[in-house]
Amino acid sequence: MRQALKEQRAVAVDLLNYKADGTPFWNALYIGPIFDQDGQLLYYFASQMDITERRQTQESYLQAQKMEAIGQLTAGMAHDFNNLLQVINGNLEVATLSLDDPDAARVAIDRAQRAAMRAGKLTQQLLTFARKQRLEPKHVNINNLVVEFSEMLVRTLGERIDLRLDLRPGLPVSNLDATHLEMALLNVLINARDAMPDGGEVTVATAIVRGEDRLKKHGLPHGTYIDLCIIDEGKGMTPEVLRRATEPFFTTKGPGTGLGLAMVHGFVQQSQGRLEIDSTPGKGTTVRMLFPAADSGIGLGSTQQPGNDAHAGEQDLAGAKPCVLVVEDNDDVRELAESVLAMSGYGVLSAASGEQALHLLEGGARIDLLFTDVIMPGGMTGLELADQVRTTHPRLPVLVTTGYMDELPGRGRDLNILAKPYKHEDLLARVEAALGREK
Ligand code: ADP
Ligand code: MG
Repeated sequence: MRQALKEQRAVAVDLLNYKADGTPFWNALYIGPIFDQDGQLLYYFASQMDITERRQTQESYLQAQKMEAIGQLTAGMAHDFNNLLQVINGNLEVATLSLDDPDAARVAIDRAQRAAMRAGKLTQQLLTFARKQRLEPKHVNINNLVVEFSEMLVRTLGERIDLRLDLRPGLPVSNLDATHLEMALLNVLINARDAMPDGGEVTVATAIVRGEDRLKKHGLPHGTYIDLCIIDEGKGMTPEVLRRATEPFFTTKGPGTGLGLAMVHGFVQQSQGRLEIDSTPGKGTTVRMLFPAADSGIGLGSTQQPGNDAHAGEQDLAGAKPCVLVVEDNDDVRELAESVLAMSGYGVLSAASGEQALHLLEGGARIDLLFTDVIMPGGMTGLELADQVRTTHPRLPVLVTTGYMDELPGRGRDLNILAKPYKHEDLLARVEAALGREK
């Protein structure tokens, strides 16, 4: 308002104001200059109006819209999950009935497993979109990833659209979660496909971005970046659509979810990168993801914590098989982890709560690794357990598992974390690493 008055121009603002008794109200304020014929300022005209009610209606309308979108999403998810559960349960039933025919049983179990992995992917996608995903960044050469993934991309684009690769040789590696990058790429290509019903060409290109000016243009801190860009010749977006494209639930398609670009945006942000979209109606769209190069000191730190070498070494010398204490309140999940570990030759002790685990440790049980869930309703959490164990058994390595980043406020860095759902081989690899037995 001050600025406008100084420059003698009109200004309209909504102000949150307070009445004498402290009740808040919204005040729509308008101030406009009145000039004489020579352009000299005579006076200001001002009006104000209490618009609290209008704002409330507006807000509840937005809220209602959001609830409707969430309702749609939940219904869609429930539907997808039900189908997958159907496949899992049905195939496990078939497997149980085919116990005397191991080949048939194996086929059924494989099918159930595939469906379960798909269900896992679905929750991962939701978490990415909510930016609560635990990413597992590794050194990735984006060129290699694109080439290896291109068969999938070609299949996704269909027969009428050609895929062209324009990859900059000698690209530095970046520190990224490869699976999520693949998902992001797929989402952007699906959008390109949808925008080109009559076919055409999609280009996936990589480049290196350096230099103050270009980085400043992208609003990025100094360093080396990798530019992964997807160019289509589709129908493009109007400025209004472009402005809202990354908004969750925003879609212009009948069966669309509006989550594709929201997920891509969440992932890129979480990877210290930038997402930029240029689009011209009738011409096409360029979606650009910029990721920091791994050696530039901008990327995510490694999440792995070195195992306790001294301790594991002793165990190796003694030749005893290492013993893992599994702490998990859910019986099914705990039994599964127990049998996976036992099948790989580990000794296993288990506890259904943090308290039980401490009891076992205090009782002098020989334990080489503590593997604990984070959320265990009713008692101490896995984090509290880990903290306590760190003081009483400072040399005992700890591996924590969780489905949500949210459960680890500010703790991501000093913990060794395995994201849920995990595959058996992931569990075994992380247990081995935590024991300092990495091969
Ligand atoms: P969905 O694909 O489910 O609609 P997205 O978040 O992936 O959700 O995209 C949101 C919207 O942005 C789309 O509905 C579409 O209008 C627009 N859009 C995204 N990518 C493109 C593209 N390559 N060309 C034209 N429009 C696009
Ligand atoms: Mg999409």
